[in-house]
Amino acid sequence: MSLFETEALILRSYNLSEADKIVLLLTEEHGLVRGVAKGAKRLKSQFGGSLEPFTIVKASIYQKETSELASIRHLELIRSYFGSASNPEFLHQFSYLVEMLIEFAPPNDPNERLYRMTKVCLESASENAGSLEIVGLYFEIWLLKLCGFLPDWSHCEVCRTEFSRDERSTLQMNFNLRCDKCKQSRADGTLTGQDREIMLSAQRMGPAKFIRTVENAASKNVSVILRRMIAHVLGREFANGKIVKAKGYS
Ligand SMILES: [Zn+2]
Repeated sequence: MSLFETEALILRSYNLSEADKIVLLLTEEHGLVRGVAKGAKRLKSQFGGSLEPFTIVKASIYQKETSELASIRHLELIRSYFGSASNPEFLHQFSYLVEMLIEFAPPNDPNERLYRMTKVCLESASENAGSLEIVGLYFEIWLLKLCGFLPDWSHCEVCRTEFSRDERSTLQMNFNLRCDKCKQSRADGTLTGQDREIMLSAQRMGPAKFIRTVENAASKNVSVILRRMIAHVLGREFANGKIVKAKGYS
């Protein structure tokens, strides 16, 4: 049993009973936490507006080892991005990113870098409403990287030779790349130097700089491949930007 304080991002909240809500938070120090906010639905609740999705809070949380549900004792609002969510495109994009976070991040598994990456993406998207897709791409690349699923596109998977700037490479079924000398006939597409550079530059810079560097149109190929990687890892498909269960998958 322990009581801890941590910075956190409110991802979702649901009604639990007449007075209480269940809140899903991505915390800085304890990963995904699901907890009950007692009395949150009352008019004069101590939680006020701090339970809205996309709000950064300082949270006091009581977690029993034997229980999946924690108890949210206190929330102090640090910053709210709830206003940005009145833009339907922002809401659509971040609802998808939240869905992916929930799929990828195991509950109560601390991942500070994942928290900080999510927070900085939210910040960049709220300041650059026209770059939501690029922020989403940045988020997908880092989510895969931080969860250990991102292939290294800097070199050929067979001969390990680093690709030169404009060299063509072929995508394999396992999402690794091969150079022209090592390629097989069963390749799964071609990647240009520019495609690789988008993937590699996301890993070198913050989202604000990535937005200024990458054009929407140029990132389409990488974006399609990333969605396929994510679908492969999760064993699910996408439809209209939402993760859905694939046929025959249970
Ligand atoms: Zn090679």
